[in-house]
Amino acid sequence: MMTQPIRIGHGFDLHRLEAGRALVIGGVTFEHDRGAAGHSDGDVVYHAVTDAILGALAEPDIGQLFPDNDPQWAGADSRVFVAEADRLMRQAGYAIGNLDVTVICQKPKLGEHKHVIRRHLAVLLGCDESQVNIKGKTHEHVDALGENRAIACHAVVLIRSESAASV
Ligand code: MG
Repeated sequence: MMTQPIRIGHGFDLHRLEAGRALVIGGVTFEHDRGAAGHSDGDVVYHAVTDAILGALAEPDIGQLFPDNDPQWAGADSRVFVAEADRLMRQAGYAIGNLDVTVICQKPKLGEHKHVIRRHLAVLLGCDESQVNIKGKTHEHVDALGENRAIACHAVVLIRSESAASV
């Protein structure tokens, strides 16, 4: 990959919500009547952020790096995926410029947990909390997201080369 001063990446993830599962969002377990179905813990924030960083690095996506038919990742704490994306980013000579995350679900409200999610990501990615933003949106009761049958997340990240002149 050619080293450029800055590179941008986008990640998107969506999980079905099903009864009898824990709902984990950005490493926070929420009180809710259902949780994200998935091979790992189904953390849409960590998955979208992982894919955003991998995208910025022009690396294979999260599903290729961590196949959902690999028993190693069954029930995995999705922190491991973010940590691996961070490792690849540093290996390529980049660090986080800033990260902007939008979580879409009808319920629950992220509320004050946004600050905790932000802190989790700043720690995982070795950056300042001011470089991370977490936004929450409902889906206006429309479609699967609005009917509390799914949760989704978009993440946009800018990474900057640590060797290039500061930008
Ligand atoms: Mg996922």
